Amino acid sequence: MPVQSKAIDWLQDPIERLNHKNAFDASLVLGTSKFNRSTGREDNLHPPFSQHIDPDTGLIRGDFLRSRNCPVCEAPPGPGLFVKDGFRHVRCPNCSLIYVSLILREDLMNKYWREELAWTRVLQSAPQMEMDQVKYDYGLDLVSAYLAGGKILDIGTGTGFFLRQAHLRGWETMGLELNLESVESMRNEGIEVIVKPLELSDLASGSFEMVSLWEVLEHLAEPKTILSEARRLLTAQGLLLILVPNSSSLVTRLLHEKSNTFGGHSHLNHFNPKSLTNILESMRFEILELETVITELGTINNYMNFEDPYLGEAPPFFPNLTPEIIHKNLWGSRLLVLARPSDK
Ligand SMILES: [Zn+2]
Repeated sequence: MPVQSKAIDWLQDPIERLNHKNAFDASLVLGTSKFNRSTGREDNLHPPFSQHIDPDTGLIRGDFLRSRNCPVCEAPPGPGLFVKDGFRHVRCPNCSLIYVSLILREDLMNKYWREELAWTRVLQSAPQMEMDQVKYDYGLDLVSAYLAGGKILDIGTGTGFFLRQAHLRGWETMGLELNLESVESMRNEGIEVIVKPLELSDLASGSFEMVSLWEVLEHLAEPKTILSEARRLLTAQGLLLILVPNSSSLVTRLLHEKSNTFGGHSHLNHFNPKSLTNILESMRFEILELETVITELGTINNYMNFEDPYLGEAPPFFPNLTPEIIHKNLWGSRLLVLARPSDK
């Protein structure tokens, strides 16, 4: 049964909207150290290719890598910013995107995603699921202000948690996922899932009212390929929902390579409001909503107090630095965007 579009009162009220955002900000709800320990981030997430770093160069061995130009504007890589876990991070001299070049060979990357389990365990932890449920409800509320419902394709759907939430609210659902364990668990639950790259999936044009990319675009060697396919698959009034790390967030501006958003085997592209707008407009999407969510205020406080950014328990170093100020300046650690095809 299709869901009805509805006026969501709190979306128009800045204070209420901020309160809804804060409800899935783990720094504020659970505390940074508690969240990072209880989700297993500390135990599970280690650089998986560091044994292949060449001690002479500090970089991953050359035969593991392939080169690429800027995935937004195709300019050749500019001077390096820093090396993290053996991967060189550069900033595009043309469009300012921060990205990884060289990146892992395609076969190694595909194998990694098929077999990866550490991040899957984090996603399955109770505190992560608690925060994600509120986050996904926020996204679905945002969408329902524009759209009456229909069919969702969730790309990189992980364990399928978002699709379960959407199904409860009346959406028809389909997932796309490469991780073998995640696919098996979704199929056991009867969730329809495709196990191949989107461009090989043979889905009919205009067959989805919504395509979602929750923390996916940063992982893709060629993000334009996915955006082009997403555009083809959407109906004329269909919506594209994107969540990505924000390279212009306050926490990333402070921590630079110490920020755990940087890890070159997996996070290949680091968008900010400008570069995300550029790539979407170049792919003929019109942006309806662009905001930041998740402050990482605890991480910031820890770092400013010389404690471990992710495991410290420092008090606020500057009480006037509030979630309101962070999000008003688009300094939150994630960018949330809603867009639709601009001339379809
Ligand atoms: Zn560029």
